[in-house]
Amino acid sequence: MNPLFSLAPSELDPIINTWEQELGGALEISLEITGFDPLVRPNEQVAKAQPVAADPAGKKPTVHSSISGTITNVKKDFITVREEGARIAQPSEFPVADSQVMLNALRENGIDVRGLKEGCTLIINAMPRELGMDAHRILIEEFNEIMLTGLQYLKKALSPNACTLAYPGRMDWTISGCTGHEITPVYPNSLPEIVTKEVTGKELPSEVCVIDATTLYRIGRTVHGRQPVTLVIVKIGSTPYLTPVGTPVGVLLKLAGFRPAEHDRIIFGGPLTGETVYSLKHGVGPDTQAITILRTTNTPTVKDNPCVGCGECVIHCPARLQPNMISRHAEFGLYENTLAYGIGSCIECGLCGYWCKAQRPILQYIRLAKKELAAQPILEGLRKQK
Ligand code: SF4
Ligand code: SF4
Repeated sequence: MNPLFSLAPSELDPIINTWEQELGGALEISLEITGFDPLVRPNEQVAKAQPVAADPAGKKPTVHSSISGTITNVKKDFITVREEGARIAQPSEFPVADSQVMLNALRENGIDVRGLKEGCTLIINAMPRELGMDAHRILIEEFNEIMLTGLQYLKKALSPNACTLAYPGRMDWTISGCTGHEITPVYPNSLPEIVTKEVTGKELPSEVCVIDATTLYRIGRTVHGRQPVTLVIVKIGSTPYLTPVGTPVGVLLKLAGFRPAEHDRIIFGGPLTGETVYSLKHGVGPDTQAITILRTTNTPTVKDNPCVGCGECVIHCPARLQPNMISRHAEFGLYENTLAYGIGSCIECGLCGYWCKAQRPILQYIRLAKKELAAQPILEGLRKQK
């Protein structure tokens, strides 16, 4: 088996708490707020767990400061906060009420609840998403009670008709109140669509909701502590770092002893589906599970080379699509044409790009097309106003 595709959880080094390390000065976090309305201004003092930006559409989770400090910058895409003082926001309320009220309470406390619906079949996805993204095993093995708190809250909010924990074979993980389902630990078996098929035997059944095990932990921690979770576990190499959300990637790489060279790519997530960051000041998000570094010396450079028609991407696509055709149309801005090739069924596994003989950025073209297609109703609305 290609070692890149192994999802068998590895042995982890002891966890390192960045608070206990010498950072050479006050920590300054960077919180991503693209598309959000800022709720704070420069020089304002904020408490740990205070909301600092909210989605104007009321769908995405509210962004909170993970430290007590002073707002140093408010830009279109990020807010920075410099650590200072020890203020903590007032505790949140988590009423036991109807489904929407309970889910809204989670969203306002920083949890992404999009896609969760009442009466669903709930699957807790505990598969490491990609190679090296297995630090969440700490949550399942050491904080099982917190996971259970999260599950109990979700059960009240969703009244699911069944609940299953999907986990990598031979790990023997359990959460009380869930049936277990072993999954062969080989990529892309970790992706929600494939986990769903493994557990239910069906492709994209509408009644299934899949929630990542890290999100379940965050729900448990949020409800238990009555505050948004401000810390995240990020794995670099074999070491998990416990660090405030928004910690700049450069701070973590320095602690880990990594010195990025020019043109190395630093990725939030794994090598196949993660997203490259363009600045060492970029802060880790609440869902950042790992940081991967692709060295230019041993990684082929992806370029917008022309497709040579080798068909490798078609052979390896688990969604049975034609990534070659989708990427060709997306490359030239013909986004609507990609619909005819079933772009909506792409599960963003990145295998097409991995196997591409021409080293085309196929997944990136696909993500671009999806984003443009999602924005189309807005563009059409604007056109109609003219
Ligand atoms: S990312 Fe590529 S290989 Fe994966 S499902 Fe989408 S088109 Fe297929
Ligand atoms: S793998 Fe790359 S070069 Fe080959 S058909 Fe697909 S897009 Fe074209």
